[in-house]
Amino acid sequence: MDSEQPIPGEQPTESPAWSKRVPFQVDVGGIIQLMGESLYSRPEVAVRELIQNAHDGIMRRRAEEVTFQGRIDLRQDPERHLLEVSDDGIGMTPEEAETYLGTLGLGISGWIKGRGDTAGASNLIGQFGVGLLSGFLLAERIVVVSRHRDDDRAVLWEAGSGTDILLASAERESCGTTVRLHLKPDFAAFAEQEELLESVIRQYAEFLPLPIYLNEGGQRVNVGTAAWLETTPDRRAVEMELESYFGETPLEVIPVRVERPVTVRGALYVTPQRTPGFTDAPTLTVTVRRMVISRRLQGLLPDWAPFIRGVVELPECDPTVSREDLVRNVRFAWVQEELDRAVFSHFEKLVESDPKRWETLIAWHRYLLAGAALAHEPLRRLLGRSYRFSTSQGLLTFEQIFKRSRGRPGFDSDADYVLWYNPNRHQESWMNTLFLDYPAPCVHTLRSFEETLLALMAADLAAEGCDIDVRIAGPGSPDFARSVLGMGDLGEAPPVWQDFLGSDRVRVLVGRFAPRIPVMAFLSERAELYKTFEELKKSGSVPAGFQRLIDAHFSGDVPRPNEVVLNLDHRLVGRALEQSPGTPLGSVVRLLVGKALATAGWVPDRPAFQREEDDLMWIAEALWGRDSRPGGD
Ligand code: ADP
Repeated sequence: MDSEQPIPGEQPTESPAWSKRVPFQVDVGGIIQLMGESLYSRPEVAVRELIQNAHDGIMRRRAEEVTFQGRIDLRQDPERHLLEVSDDGIGMTPEEAETYLGTLGLGISGWIKGRGDTAGASNLIGQFGVGLLSGFLLAERIVVVSRHRDDDRAVLWEAGSGTDILLASAERESCGTTVRLHLKPDFAAFAEQEELLESVIRQYAEFLPLPIYLNEGGQRVNVGTAAWLETTPDRRAVEMELESYFGETPLEVIPVRVERPVTVRGALYVTPQRTPGFTDAPTLTVTVRRMVISRRLQGLLPDWAPFIRGVVELPECDPTVSREDLVRNVRFAWVQEELDRAVFSHFEKLVESDPKRWETLIAWHRYLLAGAALAHEPLRRLLGRSYRFSTSQGLLTFEQIFKRSRGRPGFDSDADYVLWYNPNRHQESWMNTLFLDYPAPCVHTLRSFEETLLALMAADLAAEGCDIDVRIAGPGSPDFARSVLGMGDLGEAPPVWQDFLGSDRVRVLVGRFAPRIPVMAFLSERAELYKTFEELKKSGSVPAGFQRLIDAHFSGDVPRPNEVVLNLDHRLVGRALEQSPGTPLGSVVRLLVGKALATAGWVPDRPAFQREEDDLMWIAEALWGRDSRPGGD
């Protein structure tokens, strides 16, 4: 379409009766109010903005006088409800005050930075020409007195509730700027409470490389530096400063120094706090040219490491207008990448250089690490070398498990590697017994995420062409009976025995194995859970939303039931199976099945106790007749 063509409906009538151009109307008072009330989330940021302006003024003077130090002074006057921020920086000429303080959106800092050619421009913080206006958050009237370094005239600038600005000649002995806030009654505390101002100064300007004094106190309020900002930071000092700044002991400190493609300086650390779940996104303290932008900046730290905290100086990143957050631009994305890289490569090195320490970190944040590794392949690979699963052969990493799980040539198996695992806590020692003489370990995936983690680690290898299979340790899995248990002839029990021995929760199999063991049982936790839900469902006590979750969890497939295997090679069991179940011998077998299930960790239900009682009575009756009593005549 021709972009020159007028769009239908957008032209004035032909030879219009009237037409005119008018200037855009801006309600300055309204804008000032909007800025003051809506741009900034907290009133104390006004103090930060004034400190920032003072800082920039001093930096501009330093750019011209190399040895000049400079200082910022805050003064409170409780009687007259005044708060004053004063600097001995470059100051403003009357013309500059008129231009820069009176025009919204115009600031000399932004202008210098935009030109990008002035020495020291990169040290300036201000940018938007709106900072002073934030003073109206706290003040009903703002008075500025300033004198430029190269000018002997001082200027007074005053703005209040009206939209007019008063400019006048004034007296000021030396160069610099004083901004005085005539506080609104609601904010009188800013003129009265020293602690309040002290905490605001420390909150935002702790690391600003200029001394800030309060009420002519002998000591500066801000420390003005931080070990992590030094060119070659001292490890121990960084650790101690992190500890005091964040109020918790770092488990591991990760220094960060990147120059390209973006400058990042700082220190991250592993927090000792265990965050419940993943909802608490990792947060970071961010300074831009040493002014604190946020103590909880979101989105910069890697998602996979929610236990990381820290502080970074990002001199090239752009604060938002309110300077409480960073603009999500390409530099922001670079910082994201660099932090991810810094944390990951630190851990990678730690695995090699100090494996004990790394293991302590894993032990501390096991849940978060295992969970995060599900979605993060590099982390999964790292944990493959360092995360220890509990197994029938002790604590082993995935790599070690893998090496020991080679299928025995000719003996097993359809896969080169089979990893056996047991997700059921109750079966742990039982499985350890079964795997005692078997070369491969049984992995107990008992903790959160371990079952999935194991499967994904194997899937990573499979994706590289490895013939590997992960199987649950139980007779329902291919090869388990034959290779692990050394069972032969495994098959379904005859239906009469299935009916007699199996309730709806137990599947009955027969096979041949060590003659001293009559019956083996294997539990399926999923089946137990399923059964419980089924019963709740029948009684109508499951809320609808919950029911949908349950259905999704089992996604239509009825889980593998509990299983028992009867040993045809056992003298008593073998004989019993030759007969039909109704004999006393059948009842003995049923008692043995109950015992095997109990050994595997099953908790008998009421019908099971009833059956046990019936079986014992029936055996007694067979031995002594219907009316006989144990201990009777
Ligand atoms: P910015 O967000 O750019 O700091 P301000 O409205 O706070 O905007 O200030 C506008 C301009 O006024 C600044 O860029 C600077 O040129 C001048 N200015 C404000 N405060 C001072 C100061 N303390 N010393 C020198 N110049 C100042």
